[in-house]
Amino acid sequence: MSEYDIVIIGGGPAGLTAGLYTARARLKTLLLEKIAPGGQAALAWTIENYPGFPEGIGGPELMERTRKQAEKYGLEIKSGEVVKVSASSEDERSKRKIEKIVNTKEEEYKSVALIVATGTRPRKLEIPGEERLIGRGVSYCATCDGPLFKNRKVVVVGGGDAAVEEALFLSKFAEKVTLIHRRDGLRATKIMQERAVSNPKLEFLWKSVVTEILGETEVEGVKVRNLETGKDLTLEAKGIFVYIGTAPNTGFLKGVVEMDEEGFIITDENMETSVKGIYACGDVRKKLLRQVVTACGEGATAGFAAGQYVGKWEDETKR
Ligand code: NAP
Repeated sequence: MSEYDIVIIGGGPAGLTAGLYTARARLKTLLLEKIAPGGQAALAWTIENYPGFPEGIGGPELMERTRKQAEKYGLEIKSGEVVKVSASSEDERSKRKIEKIVNTKEEEYKSVALIVATGTRPRKLEIPGEERLIGRGVSYCATCDGPLFKNRKVVVVGGGDAAVEEALFLSKFAEKVTLIHRRDGLRATKIMQERAVSNPKLEFLWKSVVTEILGETEVEGVKVRNLETGKDLTLEAKGIFVYIGTAPNTGFLKGVVEMDEEGFIITDENMETSVKGIYACGDVRKKLLRQVVTACGEGATAGFAAGQYVGKWEDETKR
């Protein structure tokens, strides 16, 4: 079993920044990432609101640079999907140096402090046809799949930043993009709304929801219900991109730290959760604003606070 000062779970902007700070503090740190570092941010074709890049920067490039920067200072990154976390009780704390245990499917790791930066995953519509046609026209990542829909008609569902940004990206390839939203106005940032309404390839279906995705082996269209009139219509489309918000990746932490009703982790201003020595940062936290810049700021705070916790722990165990 490997022992560390700090284990970080999740390699998006929050986890990588936490790792940058703990590595520079010369704390032995392991970052565990399910697939590859970068998180959701690495799926953004461009990030325009991260300070210091007036022309914007591609999500993959920003995340690759952040990973390199953290590794340069000694952050160790391994792949592994965490399935369980446990924290020893107060009694055990006085007897043992190590108090957090992290299990992946294959291995077990021990650490003094733990930082959770597991982010979120896209929410699904949960309508007929969705599961069956994932990867066959149903997508949650326009950056990944958009170019496959050159000169095709596609549909985007949602009215937030993600839906509008990705609809604009899709308009570079698609013949037509129909954005379907359940309200009569978008909630995305104003500048994105302005671009969307002035884009000739974008059309809007307001006060409408998709009730079914049509097609046997690939998407052929969607069934849409107007919430005001109750009338249904069928729209021809080869792709449907779903951006209806996100759900936190916290299933493995159930019963360990305090969360809100949706599973977002509750922390104090130092990013500490209800369990001493366990911190959370980035999109997985209950908070107002989910952006790369806020994730980085929280990662820095969590890394610094976790470092202080490890220092105190070492002082106590020496006595
Ligand atoms: P979001 O801001 O929560 O918006 C979700 C949208 O989906 C809302 O318009 C919502 O409608 C709609 N919706 C929710 N459930 C639905 C359902 N069952 N059927 C139909 N529509 C439904 O989520 P997001 O746009 O996916 O973004 C996730 C987070 O990432 C946000 O915090 C966002 O700010 C952030 N983000 C930021 C950027 C950026 O700053 N550049 C880019 C992408 C994402 P209502 O309006 O009626 O609730």
